[in-house]
Amino acid sequence: MSENRVVQGRMVTAKKLAELIEDDSVMDAEAIEEADRECPDCGGDVLEVGYMPSVTEFVTGQKCQDCDWSETDRD
Ligand SMILES: [Zn+2]
Repeated sequence: MSENRVVQGRMVTAKKLAELIEDDSVMDAEAIEEADRECPDCGGDVLEVGYMPSVTEFVTGQKCQDCDWSETDRD
């Protein structure tokens, strides 16, 4: 299942959203969900997506729909 969302003015798939967060290509991504928080930079809505940057790694990333802010659970 893939539901596209608008991020910074363009439609993105879950995989594309993950690639924006990762700033690189990813192998696979789960469905986009709404994160239960506001963007710390602009107060905009934040989306969340789980994805696999490589076979051995699973990352949950968050990205603002309105600005460049993003973060992952890596740290
Ligand atoms: Zn923002």
